[in-house]
Amino acid sequence: QKFVSGLSKTSSSLVGAMEDLILRRNKIDEELFEELEEILISADVGVSTTMELVDRVRQEVKERKIQDPAELQPLMSEIILEMMKSDDGAPSLAMNDEGLTVILFVGVNGVGKTTTIGKLAHKLKSQGKKVVLAAGDTFRAGAIEQLETWGERVGVDVIKHQAGADPAAVVYDGIQAAKSRGADILLCDTAGRLHSKVNLMEELKKVYRVVQREVPGAPHEVLLVLDATTGQNALQQAKTFSQAVNVSGIVLTKLDGTAKGGIVIAIRNELDLPVRWVGLGEKVEDLQEFDAEQFVHGLFG
Ligand code: GDP
Repeated sequence: QKFVSGLSKTSSSLVGAMEDLILRRNKIDEELFEELEEILISADVGVSTTMELVDRVRQEVKERKIQDPAELQPLMSEIILEMMKSDDGAPSLAMNDEGLTVILFVGVNGVGKTTTIGKLAHKLKSQGKKVVLAAGDTFRAGAIEQLETWGERVGVDVIKHQAGADPAAVVYDGIQAAKSRGADILLCDTAGRLHSKVNLMEELKKVYRVVQREVPGAPHEVLLVLDATTGQNALQQAKTFSQAVNVSGIVLTKLDGTAKGGIVIAIRNELDLPVRWVGLGEKVEDLQEFDAEQFVHGLFG
C-alpha cells in the first residue's frame, strides 16, 4: 500500500498523461506512438528503454490487431512488467549463514546512504539480527554524527573514527568489533564525494579489499544507493560505481515525491542489477523491498 502511494506522483504524471493521450485520440497511429514516447521520456524512462518499450507496444498492437487506444494501457503495463521481471524471486539481501554478513553501501553524497543504513538496521534488528554499523563516510561533514544518531534511534552499535580518517581502517575496526560482539551483520557507510572521483574510487577499492581479506566471501552485498529524483544521472552513477566495485544491487531512494519514478524501468532494463529496496520517505519505516509487480500495479492502478 505504501509502495503504491509512494508512486502517486509518477503515476499521475505518466499514467495521467497516457490517459489524456488515449482520450484525445480515437485511433492508434504513428502520431500516437510518438506522443507516447514523449510521455515516457519525460517520466524519466530514458531514451533507449522508451524506444524499446514503444517498439514492443507497436509490435504487439500489430500482432494482436489492437485498434482501440483504450487497450494500450493494459498492454503497456504487461510489457513493462515483462521488461522488469527478472527481479522476481531475488532475495532482498544475500546473507552469510556461516558468520558475519558484510554489506557495503556506495553512492554519491546526498542520495540517502546513511538514511538507508538506519532504516535497514531497524528492519534487520526487528527480525532478530544483531547489527553493527561502520561510519565509513569520514569525508562528508556530519556524516559520522548522522549515523550515530541513527544508531541511537534504532538501538545498534556504531563503530567510528574521527572525521578525515581512513575509511578502510574504520571498516576494518567495524569488522573486528562486529566479530567480537557476535554480530550477524555489519552495514558499512562509505563516502560519496563527486569531485575527485578517482580518489573516491581508489578509496572504495581499498575498503573492498579489506572486507574481502577479513571475512571470507565478503562483501556479501555492495548496494549502490541512487536518488530517483536525479533521473537519468542515476544511470550514469551506476555505470561509474560499477567500474570500481562489484555492485550487487540497487537501493532507489526518494521515490516518494518525485514524478521521475520511470527511472526504475530504465534501471531494470539497462543495468543488469536487481533493485533490492526502495526508499519512500525519511522515516525509519520508509524502506520497502522492491517488487516489480507491485511497482507496475502502483503505476497503472
Ligand atoms: P548520504 O549523503 O548518501 O548519506 O545521504 P543522507 O542519508 O544524508 O540523505 C540525504 C537526504 O535525503 C536526507 O535529508 C534524508 O532524510 C533524505 N532521504 C533519504 N532517503 C529518502 C527517501 O527515501 N525519501 C525522502 N523523501 N527523503 C530521503
